[in-house]
Amino acid sequence: MTDTSVALLGVKGGPAIKPGSNMPSSTLLQMNSLNILVDAGLGVTRAVCDQGLALTEIDLIIITHLHSDHYLELGALFHTAWVAGLRTPIPVIGPAGLNHYWTAFLSSMQYDINLRIEDEGRCDLAGLTRISEISEGLIYDQNAVKITALRNRHPPIRDSFALKFEACGKKIVLSGDTTYFAEMIAFADQADLLVHEVLLEAGVDALCASLGVTDDRLKQHLMRSHTAAPDVGRIARLARVRRLALNHFVPGADDRFSPQDWEVGIRQTWDGPLTIGTDGLKIDL
Ligand SMILES: [Zn+2]
Ligand SMILES: [Zn+2]
Repeated sequence: MTDTSVALLGVKGGPAIKPGSNMPSSTLLQMNSLNILVDAGLGVTRAVCDQGLALTEIDLIIITHLHSDHYLELGALFHTAWVAGLRTPIPVIGPAGLNHYWTAFLSSMQYDINLRIEDEGRCDLAGLTRISEISEGLIYDQNAVKITALRNRHPPIRDSFALKFEACGKKIVLSGDTTYFAEMIAFADQADLLVHEVLLEAGVDALCASLGVTDDRLKQHLMRSHTAAPDVGRIARLARVRRLALNHFVPGADDRFSPQDWEVGIRQTWDGPLTIGTDGLKIDL
């Protein structure tokens, strides 16, 4: 039995950053001595190192869906792991289309990659991963770690997944980006930790107002594809999880809203243990 932990590397919803904001999505799970990275948003490479983990020690990467805030830095992460000495491939499980990103990344960096192979004697970066396509159901069952994917509801994207990790008697569920849907309750049933994305409706109104939006399309889009705070609390309660942690805050960079605002939304429906995520926060289980 080894330590189980979840580090919230980047908790901001959406791809933009600004001074003082959190960074986009990535999460590091450590279970049964495996280091599993979920998503690779901007800042992931630095954030993994800040957890005291060498890039060469990542065992598995899963990409939940192809919004840029979840995979923009995947290529740079691999390139940096490569120059940091990675020689053993890291498998990646992600949606159809990720292969195209990877081959296009390699092609865009071809000059540098070829130079380092010839000039520095490095191995070929192209051989350092193999990407397999994610689908619903059991996606990984090795080293006494089981990972199950559930297609969530994140329109217009169809290939978007919640993930459940089971090892060492612990169960961890990550919602991914999703609107409220009832299947999440059974999927997260009695999890030791549910990490759920969250949207603050008042924050969305403020966001739309600040952008000068005159109709409700942006608001409707956000409400259709993300989960309002009281619904997140409801899922945690009905699923009887042991702890709820929040990430992927929408809006994610509005200093008019403080952690207290998110807590007020959640406390309408959930009175159990609650962690308001911040970048770099590690939760030990
Ligand atoms: Zn996102
Ligand atoms: Zn998304």
